[in-house]
Amino acid sequence: MTTSVKPADSAHRLRQHGVRSTPFRRALLQVLGESSVALTQAQLIQMLGHDTDRVTLYRNLRSLMQAGILHEINAGTTNPCYALCPPVCDATEHQHRHIHFRCDACGATHCVDSLEPPWPVLPTGYRVRDWKLTAEGLCKTCSKSQK
Ligand SMILES: [Zn+2]
Ligand SMILES: [Zn+2]
Ligand SMILES: [Zn+2]
Repeated sequence: MTTSVKPADSAHRLRQHGVRSTPFRRALLQVLGESSVALTQAQLIQMLGHDTDRVTLYRNLRSLMQAGILHEINAGTTNPCYALCPPVCDATEHQHRHIHFRCDACGATHCVDSLEPPWPVLPTGYRVRDWKLTAEGLCKTCSKSQK
């Protein structure tokens, strides 16, 4: 659930996070901002234009992740997807703790950032790098059509 991103906002956001604002990065932010679901690399290429170079896309996804602008979901799987981060994330820390919902029917992954579930507090000495909370089932659209 992301809000649409204006080109000027994208440029601002990139600079704010200390990364150079390039036309490619602004386009990437715009595509992700306009999508209600997380997008795979294949989907991103489709939306950015078929001449998009895979390596360029991959490198830019990495640097924007490091800058705290977007996050990867299902990392390490064959089909990771990407979504914009909430404004609280920055280059030092990703602070979103939201549920990712994967729909069995349409296969789309949603960031459910309208609620923040209570997270367990770990004993002293453990430093959490990332929380992963994934729910699976039917998304709002698919559960409606299956009634
Ligand atoms: Zn983040
Ligand atoms: Zn669905
Ligand atoms: Zn997310």
